[in-house]
Amino acid sequence: MLHPIESSTPRAAAVEDDPWHTGAACRSDEAGLFFAPSKEPTAARLAREEQAKRVCARCPVLLECREHALAQPEPYGVWGGLTAAERRVVLTRRRRRDLELRDSRRLAAEPRRIAG
Ligand code: SF4
Repeated sequence: MLHPIESSTPRAAAVEDDPWHTGAACRSDEAGLFFAPSKEPTAARLAREEQAKRVCARCPVLLECREHALAQPEPYGVWGGLTAAERRVVLTRRRRRDLELRDSRRLAAEPRRIAG
């Protein structure tokens, strides 16, 4: 299986125009670490994802890759050292943070009401 950067999916084609991926540590990976084969048992998936994350940990474009995967968002595979489930958690936290920031700005802009 090809790495997401080198696969022929439409999303990978979009990455083609983005120069960050030229420094990817996974470009020469041929072990199929980054996407799950069909019907992969859980223990095998966890082991494969840990191996992929170790490749990501030494990758010079980890942050660019991660932000790309979050911005798309990429629904499958390990990108930027995060699994799809981990990226969903990050996106949920970011959305919650953005809502809290918006609410706090709105409250700060409202005229103060003094009880009494
Ligand atoms: S961070 Fe991981 S998935 Fe992203 S380019 Fe680097 S090695 Fe590949």
